[in-house]
Amino acid sequence: MGEKPRITGFEVIQFDLPPMEDMGTDYNGFNTIYEQGSTIPRQGSVLRMYTSVGVTGEIASGAGLVAQARYRDYLLGKNPLERERIYQDLKRALRQQARMGMAQIDVLLWDFAGKYYNAPVYELLGGHIKPLPCYASTTHGDHNGGLDSPQAYADFAERCLELGYPAFKIHGWGNSETALEIATIHEVGRRVGGRMDLLIDPACELETFGDALKVGWACDEEKFFWLEDPYKDGGISQFAHRKLRQMIRTPLLLTEHVRTLEPHIDFALADATDFLRGDIGYDGITGVMKLAHASEGLGIDIEIHGPGPAQRHCMTSIRNTNYYEMGLVHPCNKGTFSTQIYTNYEDSLEAIDAQGNVYAPEGPGLGVEFDWDWIEKHETNRAKFD
Ligand SMILES: [Mg+2]
Repeated sequence: MGEKPRITGFEVIQFDLPPMEDMGTDYNGFNTIYEQGSTIPRQGSVLRMYTSVGVTGEIASGAGLVAQARYRDYLLGKNPLERERIYQDLKRALRQQARMGMAQIDVLLWDFAGKYYNAPVYELLGGHIKPLPCYASTTHGDHNGGLDSPQAYADFAERCLELGYPAFKIHGWGNSETALEIATIHEVGRRVGGRMDLLIDPACELETFGDALKVGWACDEEKFFWLEDPYKDGGISQFAHRKLRQMIRTPLLLTEHVRTLEPHIDFALADATDFLRGDIGYDGITGVMKLAHASEGLGIDIEIHGPGPAQRHCMTSIRNTNYYEMGLVHPCNKGTFSTQIYTNYEDSLEAIDAQGNVYAPEGPGLGVEFDWDWIEKHETNRAKFD
């Protein structure tokens, strides 16, 4: 082997993304929902890592940790192939910042490694190309003529079934509209139950444990496949979700809102969840693969959060997982996707095959090509860190 590669610098390219059209926000400004004629402006960025061997890593991300001198100084000069050491060092260094930011560095290192070895990330993980069945994951409900009633959700679920989706996930209403949430579960269950797996994610909007329990009973009646992060504990109470599991039959999916391996496993060992959640944006590829193998050791499944190239590489390298989250989708607009920045990769309501599958990209690294003509035309700022 020749000389070991070293990290020599970073660059961040910022640009304007096309705004989200026919989208607004709901009661407190946090959930994106359908709103005809309204737009939400968006910025995008690419984080690039330069190395001594002339191979770069590139991901869709802001500057994150590399904008801070202490983390940049730590990374410069390191061997970018030493992902495990860098993961462990950053995990310790970021313990007072909820370990946020380590994931972007980790995914960047994986993209570099794939390009360095001229192999897709999934091959480095030992995976093989296989169909990844998708669920259509909706935006939150609105009162604006979009997903504004149980019937509107059921109509959309039928359309998704026709498109080929084997599963459908409801993100319901903000501000704890429990009765409407329950009516939606029953209407969607009545219309497509038994023909697709049904999931619901109140995204921690239900106000009380009691609301979560009532929604859980409705899910039981319609045989939902999972109930995710139901109420305002914020998806972190092991005690409460263990209790909820004792009172309903529907499997729970928790742990989207806990970080790194140990708290995930504590959650499972407390009998507080049925599925584990793995999030690339928080735990990186390294962290999610640790979770996948740990959950395999417990005999349970891990479900990957959100769409994206890194998510596909991980999912195609894991046995014990069920669905790819295609979201957020809506019947009347283009949803929340931002894959316009790639020439060879797309997530969208229609970006599935007739059986409702997607596949991992096959090029080196993450396997995605940025559309540099388009990005440079919309560039707003560029910064180098070395
Ligand atoms: Mg969720």
